[in-house]
Amino acid sequence: MSKKGILIIGAGGVSRVATVKCAMNIDTFETITLASRTLSKCEVIKEEILRNQKVSINTACVDADDVPALVALIKEVNPKLVLNLALPYQDLTIMDACTQCNVDYVDTANYEHPDVAKFEYKEQWAKHEQFKEANVKALLGSGFDPGVTGVYCAYAAQNLFDEIHTIDIMDCNAGDHGYAFATNFNPEINLREVSSKGRYWEEGKWIETEPLAIRIEHDYPEIGVKPSYLLYHEELESLCKNIKGLKRIRFFMTFGDSYIQHMKCLENVGMLGIKEVEHKGQKIIPMEFLATLLPDPASLGPLTVGKTNIGCIIEGIKNGIKKKVYIYNICDHEECYKETGGQAVSYTTGVPAMIGAKLIYKGIWDGKGVFNIEEFDAKPFMDEMMVQGLPYTILDLPVD
Ligand code: NDP
Repeated sequence: MSKKGILIIGAGGVSRVATVKCAMNIDTFETITLASRTLSKCEVIKEEILRNQKVSINTACVDADDVPALVALIKEVNPKLVLNLALPYQDLTIMDACTQCNVDYVDTANYEHPDVAKFEYKEQWAKHEQFKEANVKALLGSGFDPGVTGVYCAYAAQNLFDEIHTIDIMDCNAGDHGYAFATNFNPEINLREVSSKGRYWEEGKWIETEPLAIRIEHDYPEIGVKPSYLLYHEELESLCKNIKGLKRIRFFMTFGDSYIQHMKCLENVGMLGIKEVEHKGQKIIPMEFLATLLPDPASLGPLTVGKTNIGCIIEGIKNGIKKKVYIYNICDHEECYKETGGQAVSYTTGVPAMIGAKLIYKGIWDGKGVFNIEEFDAKPFMDEMMVQGLPYTILDLPVD
């Protein structure tokens, strides 16, 4: 029987948005199955989609750390594509199950070891031959950052510039959820990212900084001037390889003072630790315990007000003349919630996850092996963003 439909794994904040958006694109995806560790979370999303859109989806329970269980589920559902929206810890097992079943794969975050924060694509890139042999493809990092940021860079390289010299990725979430401290996506992944050393790439070398040591003020369109901190972010690793001629690439993210104070305090007392400690005879991982205490990011939807602005400032040469552009998207938390039940951080990740899946599903993006998003033609993705709720603006900036 020929493969049909999409199997989405994970039922958190990002998955809610992506599943709602897949249902809005049911003409493309034909059938949707949502599977996660906790079946009841899939059922809640299923009921909402049925109520709001009259689209019926299937649900299933699966432990995505277990390759045989994944293979059994994929064989039963027989989908054309698996969209991985569980956690980065599950990337490799889901990729292995996909090649065993000869099914295309899409995710939004690079593989993470549970016990050491690495933020690197090495293990996923190593599966290139495995995917080629299985005659299928993997699209890595189809969220916003990574994801849309890579598409913006590819679009600039393919359409706006002859040479690109520098890229600054600027990520601002000016949303307010009313909590003194909460993370807008999975707390473990978010806090690992922010508390790690900063790193950027210049003239072929990685330059490392202490965590949050480089701070600039940046004026985000429709938001205003915000302090922005240099972080290492996974798309830097693939973009410095795939955007030819690049001399420097950096990533900045905004954080409020309250967030930074809480994070530093939690770090100082050891609550961000990812190694086991013994507590009253029980082994616990401090970061996991902290994640249990913090608000579930999926619950922030109805509480969050304000906007996000994520984009790329790209400088280079066109027709022998220096050129600089700012490509960005603005999202409003309340609008996102009204449409999908998720806040803007889930929305800006879930919508590109659906778009990447759509382009692979329809064969518009094709190939065999493992690919980062900027390796494909950016135009069809940019066109989809305009109609799926993530419109972009391209501003010409004065050249320094
Ligand atoms: P959540 O923590 O809200 O959701 C994760 C979901 O995965 C939960 O439903 C969880 O199940 C499920 N899950 C976890 N482990 C397993 C397992 N072993 N088997 C089956 N299901 C499992 O995370 P988010 O929705 O915030 O994030 C989802 C992904 O999106 C993450 O990989 C994150 O890094 C990525 N992301 C990417 C961004 C980008 O721009 N590229 C931005 C933001 C996030 P349960 O409910 O039972 O715990």
